[in-house]
Amino acid sequence: MKGKKRVFLGILLISFLVFTLVLLGILYVIKEGRVELYKYLFFTLVAFILVLMLLIVSVIGATFYLVFSKKSNKILSSFIANFIDLFYPLVVCMARVLDFKIEKVDQSYIEIKNFLFNKNLEKYQPKDVLILAPHCIQYSGCKFKVTYDIVNCRRCGKCQINDLVNFKEKYGINVAVVTGGTLARKVVKDTKPKVIIAIACERDLTSGMQDVKQIPVYGIINERPNGPCFNTRVDVSKIEDMIKKLLDGG
Ligand code: SF4
Repeated sequence: MKGKKRVFLGILLISFLVFTLVLLGILYVIKEGRVELYKYLFFTLVAFILVLMLLIVSVIGATFYLVFSKKSNKILSSFIANFIDLFYPLVVCMARVLDFKIEKVDQSYIEIKNFLFNKNLEKYQPKDVLILAPHCIQYSGCKFKVTYDIVNCRRCGKCQINDLVNFKEKYGINVAVVTGGTLARKVVKDTKPKVIIAIACERDLTSGMQDVKQIPVYGIINERPNGPCFNTRVDVSKIEDMIKKLLDGG
């Protein structure tokens, strides 16, 4: 298992082991006959934990299968994507218990989602592609308002909004700079993209990817050389590579 995918799946596996211990504990208590009064409640709990354990094993197994398989599989990808979202709170909870950085969990989550995205790449028309960039990528001293309408950028080159305008012109795709989730949702509603390349920090990307279920989202984590939310940057070569893949169909 390459890259950061193993972080999320590893914590999921630890959850599985914890559930196994809990299950064994419950079964021991039932066997000892100490739960006569709450027998059915305990059996329901056992069934619930068994279902969770089965799902965890299926998600981990399916991801391994896709990693090593050359073929794409849309049903399996959508199964993994949905259950990765479902298990996200559990993994975050477990990561907190283990004193593990949530940022690492988010990076791993994004890596898995991007892996599934790449596995099912399709060809798109430029008008169906939307790049969503965060407002903090704009030079803090710039007086031009580029949120929503990026064309207001005067292309001075002091920040990478310039590169995003270049992509818009060169490839004919949609590009929007947004201040947060509400504006992002409005842009998506207005432009009706079929695919999104989203740039943001780990936390915003994770919540955005969980938010948008119907449209495939490829996430690119921004760079924060000046601290969070201030004059951030992005690897524009990653954006351009993905635009080319989307327009060529992989
Ligand atoms: S490139 Fe555009 S957005 Fe960035 S500082 Fe210059 S005018 Fe402002």
